[in-house]
Amino acid sequence: MASRFPTAVYRHRLARAAELADASGVDALIITPGPDLTYLIGSTAQTFERLSALVVPATGGPVLVVPRLEVASFGESAATELGLTTVPWVDGEDPYALALQHLPGNPQVAVSDSMPAGHLVPLMTATETRPLLATDILRELRMIKDDDEIAALRRAGAAIDRVHARMGEWLRPGRTEAAVAADIAAAIVAEGHTEAAFVIVGSGPNGADPHHEHSDRVITESDVVVIDIGGPVEPGYNSDSTRTYCFTEPRADVARAYAVLEEAQAAAVAAVRPGVTAESVDAAARDHLAAAGLADHFIHRTGHGIGLSVHEEPYIVAGNDVVLAPGMAFSVEPGVYFDGDWGARIEDIVVVTDDGCEPLNLRSHALTRLPTASGEDR
Ligand code: ZN
Ligand code: ZN
Ligand code: ZN
Repeated sequence: MASRFPTAVYRHRLARAAELADASGVDALIITPGPDLTYLIGSTAQTFERLSALVVPATGGPVLVVPRLEVASFGESAATELGLTTVPWVDGEDPYALALQHLPGNPQVAVSDSMPAGHLVPLMTATETRPLLATDILRELRMIKDDDEIAALRRAGAAIDRVHARMGEWLRPGRTEAAVAADIAAAIVAEGHTEAAFVIVGSGPNGADPHHEHSDRVITESDVVVIDIGGPVEPGYNSDSTRTYCFTEPRADVARAYAVLEEAQAAAVAAVRPGVTAESVDAAARDHLAAAGLADHFIHRTGHGIGLSVHEEPYIVAGNDVVLAPGMAFSVEPGVYFDGDWGARIEDIVVVTDDGCEPLNLRSHALTRLPTASGEDR
């Protein structure tokens, strides 16, 4: 499988990034390893204490400043095909001065938000200006996914759907959350992801904690279990899907609240179309839950953008008046949480289309009842 897109994709992105930097009055973007660097040149290099940075000036070509011993790690990126000027540096040289050498004096730079403080502080000292966040400049580029990115997100969605479809193989009463999570993590990779980025197995009362990961708690027959899982597929685009499971007929109050949650999630997905705000999608889910008296049990935003990062813009949250446009991809994941008792969440990824949205996950949202098979694990 190709580990990156055709070179022309990155050439276009770099040109647009320079235009946006210019339009923002920024002399250069300084991008250290992380999602912005992957987006711009297809590099998945790591950040170390020695500075590796892509400098994208508002005018003039981009330059890659890289420690000599890290040059090879950029070989997998599009840097060579793009003909990027590479400035290798060796210990004893000042990489910050090298990064700034062709910019005006005291340049206004914008840095990626993954730049470590160990690089940001010396860079600020060298520029004698206060950097801006490149995220604010690259946002409008990275928020709108192109056809290749949407195809990658579709592959990610299908891969995580296959993992959920196999849940009955691993999720059973008598096993610990941790044991189930280990099996799920292996399946996430087996079904086409390059790694399991996160595995949440929240059984019974642990399901009431939206960011519970997993524990040594033994799952019981009467539990409701929240499974929120995802990871990247090549070239780096993430899946993120939550389904909620049970083993026996749910309690009446659980069934009732879950039915409202299902409607709230569907209402939010139905609200997604170009021209509406991100916060209106959040309100669609929230208002539906509130009408059923569940407002206090929905304790997080409705969703987050997804792409090279699991959490990125646009955030589907009250107060975000970003107007949705075709190509934006984000999660729609309302939940209900009852402290010390149970919780549930339904999460799909959707992509905004010309007249609505395309869900990237199978719309199998019912509280899924799995068999309570006894056997080798008991
Ligand atoms: Zn989260
Ligand atoms: Zn999730
Ligand atoms: Zn999510």
